[in-house]
Amino acid sequence: MKIIDDLCLKFFDIDARRLRPKNFYKGVEDYRNKILPKHRHLIKKQDDYTCTLCKGVKGSLFLEWVEGYQLYKCNLCEAISPNIDMSAKQSYIESVYENDDYRKKFMRETHDQFAYRKKQYGVERYQ
Ligand SMILES: [Zn+2]
Repeated sequence: MKIIDDLCLKFFDIDARRLRPKNFYKGVEDYRNKILPKHRHLIKKQDDYTCTLCKGVKGSLFLEWVEGYQLYKCNLCEAISPNIDMSAKQSYIESVYENDDYRKKFMRETHDQFAYRKKQYGVERYQ
């Protein structure tokens, strides 16, 4: 698979290392480890399951992630829903995206990739 990936990247003249800053995935993992414990209070009990699509109240465990975060599959419509209290979504979204940690991380990554993206995709998109 690596050979195919390398050929594709070479054929399309894409430098994959430039698309993500150094230690990008470590940064994602560190951020996740920092943010997940802060939102544990949004995890619903299994008995409180409600499908986000059809509002069905019976679901089966689809995926167990970390620290109690899970996905459930609705027994009626088969939609996959997280076990997160979505009624608190506004404050959740603000707490994830409206903070200095996220803003700094986003700005740093955008800045690090700007010159490469401009060179690689700018002309194509302009045309
Ligand atoms: Zn459903």
